[in-house]
Amino acid sequence: MAGLFARSSRAKIKEQQETEARMLRPIDQADTQRRIELLDSFENAGLGWFWASDAQGRLIYLSENAAKKLGRPAGEIVGEQLTVLFKPEVDENDSHQTERPLTFLLGARNSISQLAVKVTLGKTEQWWEIAGKPHFDEDQNFVGYRGSAKDITATFQSDKDAERLSQYDSLTGLSNRHRMTKRLTSILKAFRNSKRSCALLMLDLDRFKQVNDTLGHPAGDELLRQVAARIQKVVGDKGEIGRLGGDEFQIIIPDMDDRGDLGELGQRLIQMISQPYQISGSRAVIGTSVGIAVSPYDGIDSEELVKAADLALYAAKGGGRGQYRFYHIDFTDGAKHRRQVEEDLRDALENDELQMFYQPIVDSKSHKLKCLEALMRWEHPERGFISPAIFIPVAEDIGMIKQLGEWALLRTCQQAKNWPVELRVAVNVSAIQFARDDFPGLVKSVLMESGLEPHRLELEITESVFVGDPKRTQEKFEELKRIGVRLALDDFGTGYSSLSYLQYAPFDKIKIDQSFVRGATEKGNNNPAIMSAIVSLAESLNMETVAEGVETKDELNLVTERGASHVQGYIFSQAIPHEELLERLEIGDLQYEPRGPEKYRAERKSVYRKISLIHEDHAYDVTLRNLSKTGAMIEGLLDVPVGTKFVLNLGGGQLAVATVRRSDGYMQGVEFETPLISDGADGLCTRHRVSPYQIEAAGKPLASLPEDPYEMLKMELMGGKRGKSFVQVDPSMSRRARS
Ligand code: C2E
Ligand code: CA
Ligand code: CA
Repeated sequence: MAGLFARSSRAKIKEQQETEARMLRPIDQADTQRRIELLDSFENAGLGWFWASDAQGRLIYLSENAAKKLGRPAGEIVGEQLTVLFKPEVDENDSHQTERPLTFLLGARNSISQLAVKVTLGKTEQWWEIAGKPHFDEDQNFVGYRGSAKDITATFQSDKDAERLSQYDSLTGLSNRHRMTKRLTSILKAFRNSKRSCALLMLDLDRFKQVNDTLGHPAGDELLRQVAARIQKVVGDKGEIGRLGGDEFQIIIPDMDDRGDLGELGQRLIQMISQPYQISGSRAVIGTSVGIAVSPYDGIDSEELVKAADLALYAAKGGGRGQYRFYHIDFTDGAKHRRQVEEDLRDALENDELQMFYQPIVDSKSHKLKCLEALMRWEHPERGFISPAIFIPVAEDIGMIKQLGEWALLRTCQQAKNWPVELRVAVNVSAIQFARDDFPGLVKSVLMESGLEPHRLELEITESVFVGDPKRTQEKFEELKRIGVRLALDDFGTGYSSLSYLQYAPFDKIKIDQSFVRGATEKGNNNPAIMSAIVSLAESLNMETVAEGVETKDELNLVTERGASHVQGYIFSQAIPHEELLERLEIGDLQYEPRGPEKYRAERKSVYRKISLIHEDHAYDVTLRNLSKTGAMIEGLLDVPVGTKFVLNLGGGQLAVATVRRSDGYMQGVEFETPLISDGADGLCTRHRVSPYQIEAAGKPLASLPEDPYEMLKMELMGGKRGKSFVQVDPSMSRRARS
């Protein structure tokens, strides 16, 4: 066996060696014929093709197979410019891409390696990967390129698909987060040089989770698809839409900085998305909140702009549902400002910056003064008046409400004790203060110290006091009643109002919240009916009713008609300083006249804000008293002639050109050259702002808008040479002097 095997294998090896000796014929460099054969077989096997160009960049050779692949004889293609035949790969969506690699490489006579190009001839479109080297003759003259090519259409397409998938959201077909970030980054970079603007909208659906949870995930997916389609319909080709994940959408709108247009867009998106959906037989209703930020105003790079839009969205959601918000510097500085308020509030009492103002509450029939509500005022040395709506919550958070509350109670009782007329006084009590076990004890000692008769003191508390232990709350009510003070339920009609509180709490008065009064005069509003119900219940329980925040004659008529026993609001008076009240009480003037507009105008807002006013070369400090889309009332300059033009600096880069239309002493009614627009919340804003590009042009680095960009431009805008034209007056002093 072994011998047989040995012999046969020996024979085999010999045979092999003979064949090899016969086969081995290396191709010599000089053997052009065989080299061409080799290249031919290479070309024929479809492994690759060759091409060559002349010095002018025209094709002079293309493998026959390659031409066949394109459906043309090679002869027909020869003569074509390489740059026409081979189109570089361009991202068609990226209009900012400037590089054209092939043209560049050819022009510079660089080598080409693994460059993907599109080859289009007639109807066929293929992707080739080409390589090539410039070729020179003996005298080093460039004679053209020699190169190879291969068809990569199949793999390239699937690579493209993969790339597509990684850029688009498979559920909605919208761009995904990755692509949106890339797009925003490249747009902002390009726009920076050309000084263009770009808006970014962030959307977050309201109640989506609820639909997803109740109707199931497939329904949730279907809903997201329908939402995407609606957004696309609203946005059209104005911008690029992306789904960032979950129920979060983002829209990039290049060349858009008009906040009027953006607000309308935000509103339209909210309206469209809030329409009911039909999902596999079920109905679903959701809403959305929208945050809007604009580059370069609110952010220069994509990170900064996204953050601003996010903060705006956050604020929109915080303001209730179905709202849009423009980014505002306070959103970022919110924390900083708050810290400042906190710090300064600690010293406010010691520095004597707090005062009690008093607002009359009158009988709804006789308009005679019955009671005064004490409202705290904080005049900050730098920031002017800070609203108690802001600092009271801060005081509650930092544990200062006890101190402030005690001070308010004592100060009010002391002042009321010395009034020449025996009127009631109402003091607001924070739920946190009320919750303290020693609260009734405090009231007792304050009454003792001030000497005020208990029946003249009214404590205004809100429904939030009902959250603690009901037994203890009840005991406290009883203790306070034993002391002999009166109790009023404040802000009734907001939050989780329930008439059931009224039955077991010993209230003497219900204050119907102003938000309730405000809408009541509108057609089809059911607040009047509810008001009648509250009033009749209150009457049956022997309680008074106060309609709060009455500003107009029609509101006054309505609340009187509906039986409110008392009225409080600007129609009779705002809260006034103590001295002013004293003067009035001393002359015994207890009769009030309703003074105000006939009808509630949604667009007219009472404000109290210090702003600066720019006239010629000077800035003046004035107080903004009311603001509407078309104009404002300002206070603080004496005798400004009608027709005078100036600029109101409304802050945050908002400069409004205005003309004086009415002038009366230190008050001027002005009309805006361009009407203001809604800021999505309660307020108004200008369509346009001072542009960071403008600040940059004035020699400062490009940055998003600071709190008061006007300050930075002041030097550029004002020479400061001419004398002031107007006398600046302190409005509160003048008001007192006049009355
Ligand atoms: P509130 O108790 O509901 O007080 C009524 C608010 O409505 C006051 O705002 C008052 O100036 C304003 N107001 C009155 N009439 C009208 C009107 O016709 N139109 C409009 N637009 N507003 C009107 P104010 O003084 O800014 O106080 C805001 C809130 O701050 C108060 O709401 C109260 O909750 C709280 N607050 C004020 N003073 C104190 C205080 O001494 N202690 C406590 N704990 N809270 C206080
Ligand atoms: Ca109150
Ligand atoms: Ca109130």
